[in-house]
Amino acid sequence: MSFLSHLECSRCRQTHEADRVQNLCTCGGPLLVRYDLKKAAAALRPADLAGRVSSLWRYRELLPVRSPDNIVTLGEGMTPLFRLPRLGEALGLRELWLKDEGLNPTASFKARGAATGVSRAKELGITSIAMPTNGNAGGAWASYAARAGMSVTLVMPTDAPAMSVLEATAVGARAYMVKGQITDAGAIVARSAKAHGWFEAATLKEPYRIEGKKTMGYELAEQLGWTLPDVILYPTGGGVGLIGIYKALLEMRELGWLPEGVRFPRLVAVQAEGCQPIVKAFREGRDTSEKWENASTVAQGIRVPKALGDFLVLQAVRETKGTCVAVADADTLWGLTQVSRLEGAFICPEGAALVGAVRSLLKDGWLTPDERVVLLNTGAGIKYPDILKSELPVLELNATL
Ligand SMILES: *Cc1c(COP(=O)(O)O)cnc(C)c1O
Ligand SMILES: [Zn+2]
Repeated sequence: MSFLSHLECSRCRQTHEADRVQNLCTCGGPLLVRYDLKKAAAALRPADLAGRVSSLWRYRELLPVRSPDNIVTLGEGMTPLFRLPRLGEALGLRELWLKDEGLNPTASFKARGAATGVSRAKELGITSIAMPTNGNAGGAWASYAARAGMSVTLVMPTDAPAMSVLEATAVGARAYMVKGQITDAGAIVARSAKAHGWFEAATLKEPYRIEGKKTMGYELAEQLGWTLPDVILYPTGGGVGLIGIYKALLEMRELGWLPEGVRFPRLVAVQAEGCQPIVKAFREGRDTSEKWENASTVAQGIRVPKALGDFLVLQAVRETKGTCVAVADADTLWGLTQVSRLEGAFICPEGAALVGAVRSLLKDGWLTPDERVVLLNTGAGIKYPDILKSELPVLELNATL
């Protein structure tokens, strides 16, 4: 079923055994999952996917779960990809698309990583998980873990979106709130996980979350008839989605699933002005980022002061001739009203930051009007009940309308 072969360190390239519990490499680098792609290419062709389950498990040969009995699913993936004609016209882009990850279980794309991460944890016999989270990852991992009968301990910043805290605790997670950033929460988890024997599932500290997120890349290609867009914009916190999409592009090329000589999309990492460590590193020509002090933004899912996989994000961006852009909160909120009012899609603030980024990239001339551009909206606006609240007119009903 799965062509899983081994794990490979993204930093020192050392090989690690896949069928035992693993976190980071001895060198501290995140581990990437490798498959026998030659065998996979011989066994599976794109046409074989037609008629399969409409979830990310349609790519099961290229996912890390060996036995179907261990798959923990709520129907994640295969989210809609649709045009944004009115917003495109307003911005001056002929072909603007949105992939709406808000339609996933738990209303964010974190469901993808949680589905593969929890499934593989179950397969390896793990029964308790701990992780730091800004909100959506906690809600997603808690939900999938509940379904797998695992216990979950979360450590979250006190200002994490209330809906995610409610979601995570409703499905049975223990959530501890700390004053500080996700990096502070992460340090607490790292210490206590060891003491309690919990499996640490922080971003990129376990190898399988990225496998779920990479399926966004497979789906984009499949949904576009095995062609690729010119540009993909992604709201970048830890960067797993962007690293995953790049991994999917490389895998699909090796599988021979893409047109001969096709150019990869330019990948754009979008961050918030109030937390832009990767944008800064990109501008300064560095390979890694420095911790961003006093991080603050309305787009809390991308409030990550220092990402473990920053060097992988920078690599993916540079190798695809992409770029990194920071967006002010005011432009993010503007983007949110534009997508909502012109297209009827109430997206999350992280996704809305991409609209501000498109506007500035068009202004710079980095994007041109005839390019095919995909926005990855990572979550649903309804998870943020306070967003835009102050701006929205609520009309009082008098005697007549
Ligand atoms: C987590 C999250 C992100 C950032 O994802 P990374 O993989 O950490 O880059 C973006 N948007 C939303 C809604 C999120 O929950
Ligand atoms: Zn290593």
